[in-house]
This record gives sequence, structure tokens and C-alpha cells, in this order.
Amino acid sequence: MTKKIQKVIIIGSGPAGLTAAIYAARANLNPLVFEGLQPGGQLTITTDVENYPGFPDGIMGPEMMDLFRKQAQRFDAETFYLTVDKVDLTERPFKVYVGEELYHTETIIISTGASAQLLGLESESKLMGYGVSACATCDGFFFKEKKVLIVGGGDSAMEEATFLTKFASSVSIIHRRDEFRASKIMQDRALNNPKIDVIWNAAIESMIGDPQNGGLTGVVLKNTLSGETSEMECDGVFIAIGHTPNSDLFRGKLDLDEKGYILTGADNTHTSVEGVFAAGDIQDTVYRQAVTAAGSGCKAALDAEHFLENNPLD
Ligand code: NAP
Repeated sequence: MTKKIQKVIIIGSGPAGLTAAIYAARANLNPLVFEGLQPGGQLTITTDVENYPGFPDGIMGPEMMDLFRKQAQRFDAETFYLTVDKVDLTERPFKVYVGEELYHTETIIISTGASAQLLGLESESKLMGYGVSACATCDGFFFKEKKVLIVGGGDSAMEEATFLTKFASSVSIIHRRDEFRASKIMQDRALNNPKIDVIWNAAIESMIGDPQNGGLTGVVLKNTLSGETSEMECDGVFIAIGHTPNSDLFRGKLDLDEKGYILTGADNTHTSVEGVFAAGDIQDTVYRQAVTAAGSGCKAALDAEHFLENNPLD
């Protein structure tokens, strides 16, 4: 018996994947969505989302992603809390392996996202969304006249520290060494800002606070040279130590940049393999916003639809 060949399989279920699912489903392509290890994507680890258009009073990240999913399901997208283990992109139909199951598909939309690197502390995951954030653009607004810390010494840390001064009363950059790796211009901009100070040779050993009772109240800092520890009060901690694209499945199968992000066309979502498209943070090193990811998910579905029209399988 010949196995059914899907029109579109979407891998990943953040704003990019689920928007692609809405568009593909409304084009009668009956997409299957494999949601992966973090159904709903990075927004499910935030609390309030206030910058997604259409929600004037804000919305909780997990709730918003449930709405995205429901909207896709309304048009008969099928979503599965399953993880893709392997793909074979050598010929069409492509093969997608999920546990014991093998799926054949004419096109694939990859929206596996990127994960913010975190410090890996238990207290950090407990307080994520309750004073701890990995996205200053998303959450800075909640820290008006508050004292915040930012961890990292790269361009992101400098940029986010500078951005946070629009809201916070003070911003302390916590860096594990005594020099930044950020570009000179970004360093200068941060260091010349009167609201920013730097705590050199320091690492956060733990974060203090109760998520059910006011959230983060401070951190325990460790001097990386002497090993000495001290407590510091603060209202927010922003982690800006880089992102990792979730592209391991595609290494050696698609063209990636040196950091592992999938390369797409300048003004489309085509990857290096015809019929495979990428959308959202897996191909975006610059904007990384829910709304830009959703926009590129829409583009990927439209690109897939056009591709299917022009490249029918015999
Ligand atoms: P990055 O350049 O890799 O810097 C990461 C920083 O985090 C480093 O200073 C690193 O310290 C620190 N770090 C890493 N792991 C840590 C840990 N476990 N604990 C404490 N600190 C840790 O990452 P990025 O700043 O996100 O930048 C990524 C890329 O995007 C770069 O190429 C950057 O130039 C670019 N970018 C550009 C702009 C812009 O031009 N507007 C803005 C943002 C990002 P060490 O220095 O000690 O390793």
C-alpha cells in the first residue's frame, strides 16, 4: 500500500509555525504540525505579552499560543505534541521520522526557533517570567523605575542594557570577565550612559525571590576571581548571553550560517533545498519578535503554496 503523501509538514509550533499552519490550512493543504519539545515556543516561558498587535490589554504568552493553535485547528490543521527525530531531504517526497512513524511530504516548513541561552540555575527557571527574562525588548516595559541587572558582555547585552535605561532607574551589567566582547561602539554607548554601571568579574550564583509572592527580589553574586559571594537587591534580571538555533536536525542537509541558523533567500523563506522553507527565529538573527516570526510563517506558507502549484509531484 502506498503511504499518503502530505502537502505540507510544519516542524515547530511558535508564532512562525502556527501562523504557517493557519495559512496552509486555509489554502486546503491540510498541514500536519509537529510541535516539538516546547509546544507554543519561547512565548510559553514568558508571562504578559504587550507588544503583539490586537491585544490592547496584553495577553499571557501561553494563552496567546493556545489561541494561535486553536485558530490553526479551526481550519483543520492537525497538531501533534510530538518531536521529529530525523528528516531525509535528499528527494521529494521528503521523509519525516516521528518516533515509529514515517511521513512523506511534498514540502516542509521549518520553524524550530532558537532558544535563549540561560545560566542553568534552578532559581533562574523558577523565577523566569517573575522578574527574570531573556528578552529586554519584550519585558523591559514592566521595569519602569526599577533596578535591573543584565548578564553578558556581547552586543546583545550592551544593546539591551541601553534599551532598558528607557524604563529602569538603574541598569547594572554583570560580566564574568574584565572586558567585553561587544563591538567598541556598542560598549561606548552603554558605558557612557549615566544609568548604566558594570560589575566586572562577577557571575550570578543564585536568584532570590518567590514566584508566588512578588517574584525576584535579588541575586547572590560571586566574584569570579576571588570566589567571594555577596547579595544584591534588584527587581529584574535580564539574561543576554546569546541564543542557540534549534537546527541540529538539519545540519549537513541544509545550508546553515556559522552559528547554525538556516539560510533563507533575501526576501523569501526558501532554504537551500527546493520545497523546504524556514520561518521565524531559526532563520532570524536580528528581530526575533513574535510578530516578525508570525509574518515569516505566513510568508513560508505562501511560498510553499506557490511551490506546490508550480512543482506538482507526478
Ligand atoms: P555573544 O556575542 O556570543 O556574547 C555572549 C556574551 O555572554 C559574552 O560576553 C559571554 O561572555 C557571555 N556569556 C556566555 N555564556 C555565559 C554564561 N554562562 N554566564 C555568563 N556569561 C556568559 O552573544 P550576543 O551578544 O547575543 O551576540 C550574538 C551575535 O549577534 C554577535 O555576533 C553580535 O555581534 C550580534 N549582535 C549584533 C547587534 C548589533 O549590531 N546591533 C546586537 C545584538 C547582537 P565571554 O565574553 O566571557 O565569553
